[in-house]
Amino acid sequence: LDAPLYADLAGDAEVSFEFFPPKSEKMEATLWESIQTLAPLGPRFVSVTYGAGGSTRERTHATVARIQRETPLAAAAHLTCVEATKAEIDAVAEQYWASGVRHIVALRGDPPREGARFEPHPGGYENAAALVEGLKKRHPFEVSVAAYPECHPDSLSDQADIDNLKAKIDAGATRAITQFFFAPEAFFRFRDRAAAAGIAAELVPGILPVSNVAQTRKFAGMCGAAIPPWMDRLFEGLDDHPAARQLVAATVAAEMCRKLYAGGVRSFHFYTLNRAELSFAICHLLGLRANAGVSVAAA
Ligand code: FAD
Repeated sequence: LDAPLYADLAGDAEVSFEFFPPKSEKMEATLWESIQTLAPLGPRFVSVTYGAGGSTRERTHATVARIQRETPLAAAAHLTCVEATKAEIDAVAEQYWASGVRHIVALRGDPPREGARFEPHPGGYENAAALVEGLKKRHPFEVSVAAYPECHPDSLSDQADIDNLKAKIDAGATRAITQFFFAPEAFFRFRDRAAAAGIAAELVPGILPVSNVAQTRKFAGMCGAAIPPWMDRLFEGLDDHPAARQLVAATVAAEMCRKLYAGGVRSFHFYTLNRAELSFAICHLLGLRANAGVSVAAA
């Protein structure tokens, strides 16, 4: 693709940031510093993940509620169907509504045991589409869902995966955020297939700035994303050069965003892993500038 130079990007991209709930005071401080750094970029929303089997239920809730209460940001809470009855999930959703949270990222989730097949809880929501329907019945939440440019590993075919995404949109979701990927062409093909299936909702690419290839390979193996061979070559020999590794990581992710931008993408969702610098640098290259008037109090 004939992508524009960074200097020519108009600054018209919109971004959102994903965090995970911290496990310790130290991690909480890191998260809060990251929020302070990223908030002035004016994200549309920031979201907080939900651990397998609801293992982070309280911590996710506390983090989302704090962001909503103490910052000017719109917070979105991830919620999954795993190992919980409908009544339990509905109660979590009610708590969010009562805390002023209006955006849920509705997911099926994965079984807590790695490699096991997903079995719906008896009396639970059977998949993400059913969860979206359940949430929309209770309150007019804004609902985002997950999508898979390289197909979900449980899916019987690419078409079945698109049909499942359509079911989630038809149930009331207004946006799909994708699993991470490293080939812009995979996103464009997926976008074409979604359009052909009549999906008009916004498709937002999920961007994972990679600085640790081994860790990314582990995630990717679980979710069906492909790590291209050039990724290993690019990071080869950088184990003892953390600063150079960060520069390479920012370059790789920024190049992908630039190609996506050239293909018409204007919204990007960053998997920050609770660290601000890479996402901040990539947003900067995309033309975003921090608004000094936006500040978040220290942790
Ligand atoms: P669904 O959309 O329900 O479906 C998953 C797959 O199963 C699809 O391929 C679909 O075709 C198939 N399927 C669904 N229903 C049926 C059916 N009735 N019959 C046959 N096949 C069916 N996980 C967490 O635990 N916590 C998080 O916070 C979290 N956040 C995420 C955020 C994003 C942006 C993304 C992309 C993923 C996230 N995940 C999270 C991972 C997600 O939970 C897993 O990928 C999970 O395996 C699928 O969830 P889903 O919502 O896509 O499922």
